[in-house]
Amino acid sequence: MSKSTTTRKNPSATVLIVGAGFAGLGAAIRLQQAGIRDIVTLERADRVGGTWRDNNYPGAACDIPSNLYSYSFDQNPDWSRSFSGSEEILGYIQAMVERFGLQKYIRFNQNVTDLAFDDELGVWHATTEAGEVFSGRAAVMAQGPLSNAGFPDIPGIEDYQGHKIHSAAWDHDYDFRGKKVGVIGTGASAIQIIPELVKEAGKLTVFQRTPAWVMPRPDFETPDWQKTLFRKVPASQSALRKGLYLAHESMALAVIWDSPVTRMAERLGRWHLKRQVKDRWLRRQLTPDYRIGCKRILVSNDYYPALQQPNCKLITWPIARLSEHGIRTVEGIEHQFDAIVFATGFDVSHSGTPFPVRGSGGRLLADDWKRGAQAYKSINVAGYPNLFLTFGPNSGPGHNSALVYMESQIDYIVKGVKTILSRNLKALAVRDRAQQEYNEAIQQRLAKTNWNSGCKSWYLTEDGFNATMYPGFASQYANQMKELDLRDYSLVTA
Ligand SMILES: Cc1cc2nc3c(=O)[nH]c(=O)nc-3n(C[C@H](O)[C@H](O)[C@H](O)COP(=O)(O)OP(=O)(O)OC[C@H]3O[C@@H](n4cnc5c(N)ncnc54)[C@H](O)[C@@H]3O)c2cc1C
Repeated sequence: MSKSTTTRKNPSATVLIVGAGFAGLGAAIRLQQAGIRDIVTLERADRVGGTWRDNNYPGAACDIPSNLYSYSFDQNPDWSRSFSGSEEILGYIQAMVERFGLQKYIRFNQNVTDLAFDDELGVWHATTEAGEVFSGRAAVMAQGPLSNAGFPDIPGIEDYQGHKIHSAAWDHDYDFRGKKVGVIGTGASAIQIIPELVKEAGKLTVFQRTPAWVMPRPDFETPDWQKTLFRKVPASQSALRKGLYLAHESMALAVIWDSPVTRMAERLGRWHLKRQVKDRWLRRQLTPDYRIGCKRILVSNDYYPALQQPNCKLITWPIARLSEHGIRTVEGIEHQFDAIVFATGFDVSHSGTPFPVRGSGGRLLADDWKRGAQAYKSINVAGYPNLFLTFGPNSGPGHNSALVYMESQIDYIVKGVKTILSRNLKALAVRDRAQQEYNEAIQQRLAKTNWNSGCKSWYLTEDGFNATMYPGFASQYANQMKELDLRDYSLVTA
């Protein structure tokens, strides 16, 4: 733990949570419901919300239906659309904080810079940028898998003198009207931004590296009768949620493995493209040359039409560098812009950690993960007792709601914390062997998936190691998280 003369120590809590996004807040709710109320949640921002606080670019929305992209223990009968926008999701999160009285647990403007385990005391200490130390018998790392904006590694990025905007830190004061705007990226955020920007910008130029598979988006306004029904008969909303869950589970057959369903999904993607793009040449530029599922599948009804607006142009030449006035592509043309939008995703670390995490005997998690991040059931790491990860290694969903996975992780955390308390443990430490066996099986299963079938994606490290995705159905993941098997842990009593 880093020490400073100005460091202020706070009284120790039972559970320390890093991050007040969906995961951190969900963990606080379930711990509270289990009677554990001595919780401290450290949040670096001045508001809750995580992803949905930061990603408020025009058109920002979820791509899983809201009735599934919400907590099963806090369903919202009032979603205005099948796929809600960022603002409405943020509203749901803020209302959740009110409903469950979570404010008292949260300490804002506390950016955790170090997390260290004290073997003697069996306590985690979190040091923050503000010079405070917070301690807890258990720690939950819920700082989010996609919480740090990532800029591409393009030469000359500092040379560009125009306005730079990242999708995850939108500049709402910038007036796009009549401006020449470049968009780098054609991923999940870009395809939501482009249809909105094209309505404002004078000229919009989109730089595509790899075309994505884009599927139709069954988005519609929720009729009032449905909201009334959900309010009066909550079981009807649970039934819809179950139906959506099962429908998404069936998509695993297309997304995760190469099966006849994969071919059907590809046919649907090609049909959507053909229906919306009549120009053969443009269609060719937008046709993916890799198996569906290998990269994240996108859903949009207005992306292809936006690209065909008279003020929009798609460039598929690779970018060579940024210059003072714009973007130079490899064939030597300089495209000049008033503003460049970086829809280039997030700084996803496959091996490092967002801040130093020091386990038993001061070992560093970044060292242990140097050759690829690994955990037991994605949640505990050998050598780091009483530490729980949300969205840890190999827990990424490709076909179902992230919140379904999150709920399983949170319930597992509650079991872990209850075990620590009821047995008065100094350390609940997963065994090396259990972690190793779990990961060998995961990597064997991953080898047979579409993600590992040869395309380049943010799921993989440079050398092709997949520390991101879970190779199975969400229900398989949930099943493995149901039981905390103490045979896989060593227990040290206080
Ligand atoms: C644009 C976008 C769209 C998405 N859409 C979907 C979707 O449609 N369907 C789906 O299933 N999933 C989606 N996801 C993935 C996932 O569901 C969300 O990212 C989700 O919000 C993750 O919740 P979280 O709490 O784990 O992380 P976050 O929401 O990122 O919250 C993490 C919190 O931790 C804080 N924090 C980070 N570092 C520190 C630190 N060092 N100290 C203190 N606090 C810290 C952050 O400020 C943030 O508030 C999307 C992700 C993004 C980025």
